[in-house]
Amino acid sequence: MSTPEVPEGSIPVLDHGFVRLDDAMASDLSVVNAARVSFARHKQEMESEDEGLIGFLLRNRHGTPFEHNSFRFHVRCPIFVMREWIRHRWSSFNEFSMRYTRANDDFYIPALEDMRQQVGKPGSYSFEPVEPELAETARAEMEKANKASYATYDRLIEAGIARELARTVLPVAAYTEFYWTVNARSLMNFLSLRNAEAAQREIHRYAEVIEGLFAERMPLTHAAFVSAGRTAP
Ligand SMILES: Cc1cc2nc3c(=O)[nH]c(=O)nc-3n(C[C@H](O)[C@H](O)[C@H](O)COP(=O)(O)OP(=O)(O)OC[C@H]3O[C@@H](n4cnc5c(N)ncnc54)[C@H](O)[C@@H]3O)c2cc1C
Repeated sequence: MSTPEVPEGSIPVLDHGFVRLDDAMASDLSVVNAARVSFARHKQEMESEDEGLIGFLLRNRHGTPFEHNSFRFHVRCPIFVMREWIRHRWSSFNEFSMRYTRANDDFYIPALEDMRQQVGKPGSYSFEPVEPELAETARAEMEKANKASYATYDRLIEAGIARELARTVLPVAAYTEFYWTVNARSLMNFLSLRNAEAAQREIHRYAEVIEGLFAERMPLTHAAFVSAGRTAP
């Protein structure tokens, strides 16, 4: 089965994935107004002192003014990446259903430079490149395993087995697709954990793109998050 269409405005990530900001109700002004309602004040436009207010709120972990906004992302990623993503409970997800729709045959195969080995002990692993020959062999092995799984899946479906059961033979490298809605407070928590060195490289790549889209919509909040050491309020 062929790869689904890539929607307009998507930013490619990994070999078959993307991130797209589907919609957003998000501005730095919403943070300022949420904070100033304490003093019965409302502004139509940002003023020079407001940048300082946003920085103050972030540094002092006054988190609630960062909740009055919403980002809706459309994401295509491997299942193992989504398993990490879905742990972020302060957000909403709706995912492509392999019960109702036939899976396609896109599987994540790391690029040669992403094929890595794990060195060190639990808690302080580092991930180092492998020799090109091993990287090539590993890619070939992965491709073979994915193809064999998909061929079994195809045979089961053709034989009349329900999609909800046939899918059990597919690996976590298979791509899935979802909508993700999140507010800036929870998004900063996500970014602090996933656009970070300790995060697995694959989700890290998605988080980098997400951070760029967040910074475009809420530049002062993003700048304050970075100056506060990337700690969510
Ligand atoms: C590098 C890395 C390695 C990881 N390894 C593992 C692993 O080996 N095994 C594993 O299971 N998970 C692992 N995780 C997932 C991790 O434990 C979190 O589930 C995930 O990062 C979501 O973070 P969160 O709970 O802060 O986010 P959210 O669920 O979005 O929560 C946001 C914030 O809300 C508050 N909150 C939410 N729910 C509760 C609650 N029930 N009680 C109190 N406060 C709450 C907390 O302040 C929390 O930080 C790993 C994550 C990272 C980044």
